[in-house]
Amino acid sequence: MRYQTVTGSILLALTLTAPTMAGAQQQQFVTIGTGGVTGVYYPAGGAICRLVNQDRDEHGIRCSAESTGGSVFNLNAIRQGELDMGVVQSDWQYHSYHGTSQFEDQGAHEELRAVFSLHPEPLTLVVRPDSGIEGIEDLRGKRVNVGNPGSGQRATVDLMLDELGWSHDDFALASELPSREQAQALCDDRIDAFFFTVGHPSGSIQEPIATCDAELVSVEHEVIDELVADTPYYFHATIPAGMYPGQDEDVNTWGVGATFVSSTNTEADVVYEVVSAVFENFETFKGLHPAFDALNKEQMVEDGLSAPLHEGAKRYYEEAGLL
Ligand code: GLU
Repeated sequence: MRYQTVTGSILLALTLTAPTMAGAQQQQFVTIGTGGVTGVYYPAGGAICRLVNQDRDEHGIRCSAESTGGSVFNLNAIRQGELDMGVVQSDWQYHSYHGTSQFEDQGAHEELRAVFSLHPEPLTLVVRPDSGIEGIEDLRGKRVNVGNPGSGQRATVDLMLDELGWSHDDFALASELPSREQAQALCDDRIDAFFFTVGHPSGSIQEPIATCDAELVSVEHEVIDELVADTPYYFHATIPAGMYPGQDEDVNTWGVGATFVSSTNTEADVVYEVVSAVFENFETFKGLHPAFDALNKEQMVEDGLSAPLHEGAKRYYEEAGLL
């Protein structure tokens, strides 16, 4: 009896182990670069990975989302082969692929590939209620968080300042705090304002509004109108009244799109599985963050993508009739 039981368990163990070992041999790791933990990129990466990982037994892909410094960091890490995929702003996707602006010294990253676009990211100016800031002209002489190097907002704000003919010297302080620290700095009165290119609603904006009555201010200027008119990946954007508690007016600004990118280093089959995990579970995906509410598949395949589509993404879109 005893002998039989032992044999039974060994057989059972062998049966259970065999397929797992085969799976382990084929396992592929995919790392997605995102942004600070209080933004939307981080939960976006988490949502994508969650949908990929739920079918791991079928495709063997283990997806993980990493908090990073943001768009420019992600694009550099993908170029260096340290990240497989990443969430990046449409403007910096363009510049990395073409080797322009911030990426002029490095040259064009011809292997960069677009996968799909995500939510819009208005350039959001958040100020202390006692700061007296009602428009961007009022920022002169104030303490402003321009963002950490590597973040999309830092690169976009620097570009805007350049267009305006301003520099960091026009501020009493130009701090470089990462997005996860800016709300606290504002509420502690260490800065008067911060800029964040982020989807809405976002915890990073909700927090200073709830904690210290922070306010959103419109970002309007004729120089910005010209920039938007001349540039395909910039657009006028409105944060509608009521997006956050106490915000009873529309906030007019301009912005970019969040996009999801990879490179030719990442296999087509892997990108195909990642895209199909999101598109085949689309309603679930949209439900994973309120900033995804307005997403639709057709736009995601078209908008804000300057680099060529990744081969694996293209294959999925053709099969799904989206291209
Ligand atoms: N747009 C920001 C960046 O590129 C990140 C926004 C977010 O974390 O949601 O760095």
